[in-house]
Amino acid sequence: MTAGAYLCPRCRASALRDTHGYRCSGCGADYPILCGIPDFRLAPDRYLSLEDEREKAARLHEFARNHSFAETLAEYYRVTDDVSPAMARRYADYVVAGEARGREALRQLAPARRVLDAGCGAGGLVVAAARAGLPVTGTDIALRWLVIAAKRLEEEGLHADLVCADIARPPFPEASFDRIAVTDLFEHVPDLPQTADALYRLLEPGGALYATGANRNTLAVYPPAGLWGVGFLPNALRRRYVTARRGIDTLRFLSMQTPGSIARALRTAGFTAVRTAPMSVPAERAAAATGGAKRALIGIYRLLREVPIARAGLLRLGPVFEISAQRPAGSLGSERTGQ
Ligand SMILES: [Zn+2]
Repeated sequence: MTAGAYLCPRCRASALRDTHGYRCSGCGADYPILCGIPDFRLAPDRYLSLEDEREKAARLHEFARNHSFAETLAEYYRVTDDVSPAMARRYADYVVAGEARGREALRQLAPARRVLDAGCGAGGLVVAAARAGLPVTGTDIALRWLVIAAKRLEEEGLHADLVCADIARPPFPEASFDRIAVTDLFEHVPDLPQTADALYRLLEPGGALYATGANRNTLAVYPPAGLWGVGFLPNALRRRYVTARRGIDTLRFLSMQTPGSIARALRTAGFTAVRTAPMSVPAERAAAATGGAKRALIGIYRLLREVPIARAGLLRLGPVFEISAQRPAGSLGSERTGQ
């Protein structure tokens, strides 16, 4: 899809470019372009109000003018007071490794023509796709993260479309993409079935989706919290435990998922060939792991993943999983309007 061919997320009429951004040709709603990024949100994420979020993004955008991507990322965590310095380092490492994870997701989705990264965050996969010469659109509900992704692209001399939007109410026409990557998104959305439905409509008939997620039932550390066993605690107890360990309930807006819960939502939305597996970790990432213990653990994980019975156990109880799915060929519906 070409940049600028957007629809109003409210009424699905064409959104036309004007001096400040986009204006809906149907309902007249205005969508601004902020920090160089079109903002099609109808509501913010659950961490900040729309005004506070836009202000935070603008401050980061200003900072990024005279600083590197790495410095901008560090600045983000410095001004985000509910993340402790230890967690900030852990998150920043994860963000930086995002391009390698993105390459792996793209390998799973190959061959691709037009890629959507739904919930692209700091743009690791977007950078990987752009570097590979693939037309790619990254979308996220957080403008602040897209500002960081834009800085990352700029620093690498790469181009991609970045669009701020709620993935359940996207500004893209139906069947805009032949490949959709969804990494670490499903546990963050307020309505999983609605999100699965929206992703289905964005995908071309015959197109493929690849998703990764953190497993609620893991016996290992639950990655979004960096804590053991949180998925097995009743909500009230989990809140107290995470707050005690992290200073704040970092899981307060998460809906923890399992491979099964996401697979069910995808099937209900109409996806076929839905396959779950423990997340694949390429050899290059094992080699790049810092520390001998971590390298050894990844090596063991990669071996176990190839043994059927261990593979089933890893899927049920391992920390991270992947899901592939397809929109059946010949399933083109009519664009829904006015909802
Ligand atoms: Zn409209």
